[in-house]
Amino acid sequence: MAGAVMPRFGMGTWHMGESAATRSAEVAALRLGLELGVRLIDTAEMYAEGGAEEVVGEAIRGRRDGVCIVSKFYPHHAARKDLVAACERSRARLGIDCIDCYLLHWRGPLPLAETVDTLNQLTAQGRIASWGVSNFDTADMEELFALPGGDRAAANQVLYNLVRRGPEFDLLPWCSTRKVDVMAYSPLDEGPLARHPAVVAVAEDLGVTAAQVAIAWTLLRAEVVSIPKAAREAHMRDNVAASSLRLNRGAQEALDRAFPPPRRKMPLAMI
Ligand code: NAP
Repeated sequence: MAGAVMPRFGMGTWHMGESAATRSAEVAALRLGLELGVRLIDTAEMYAEGGAEEVVGEAIRGRRDGVCIVSKFYPHHAARKDLVAACERSRARLGIDCIDCYLLHWRGPLPLAETVDTLNQLTAQGRIASWGVSNFDTADMEELFALPGGDRAAANQVLYNLVRRGPEFDLLPWCSTRKVDVMAYSPLDEGPLARHPAVVAVAEDLGVTAAQVAIAWTLLRAEVVSIPKAAREAHMRDNVAASSLRLNRGAQEALDRAFPPPRRKMPLAMI
């Protein structure tokens, strides 16, 4: 993040805020994460059409200090006027003056140069502390960095986990060289990696859970930030503990055999 360091581990919020029946459990899970020391929350205006941002707002009320809030705007809000308005709405739902890192959720048809210029203005005005993108492949990042002020992008949030290792071939090194944080979304591949037999085998050897192995694996690279989502408190505890788990060489080799690294460029996948 420009001017600040993004914590390496955070909490995802996709599907939160979708139902009144689960809202208090979601707030409780995020608050538990904060109590356990997590200092990063990822959300988006898309999640429950603002509902997830409201859940985050409730969870951080009275405990916002030192917590990095990342939110994302729709590509169809990327033109100047719409983007300023979307940012206002997100800040209001979150109940904060400044979004720590504000991301373009995915690339759309609107001109990137206008979006970049507006994001830099929002930064100068203190409405956001930094900005970035999501689901940008290496060629998109090249294009972004060639624009005036485009090299101020602080983060790129992408699908990266044991079964989606494509970014290792080119995107991770590209971002690392330019000090762009890579936020790995769906580190559990939306859940299945927490039950995958090859991951379970490694986890049993280490005496931890498969989810912890999958999350710890994403954190092996210094430029990667991992943002698993957990609405259940037991999952939250498991995941927070994973942020300090160090996978030994034997575990890393076993995972490489089961999930080989890419040998050629793979187009960036997206959920
Ligand atoms: P994920 O974090 O890979 O997996 C979440 C699922 O795994 C939930 O069903 C959760 O259950 C379960 N889970 C969590 N911890 C577990 C554990 N310790 N053991 C067993 N199961 C566990 O998937 P995700 O939500 O898609 O990705 C994480 C975050 O990345 C999102 O929430 C969102 O903030 C972000 N994201 C961004 C994009 C983008 O385009 N930029 C796309 C997708 C996701 P419970 O919730 O019931 O605890």
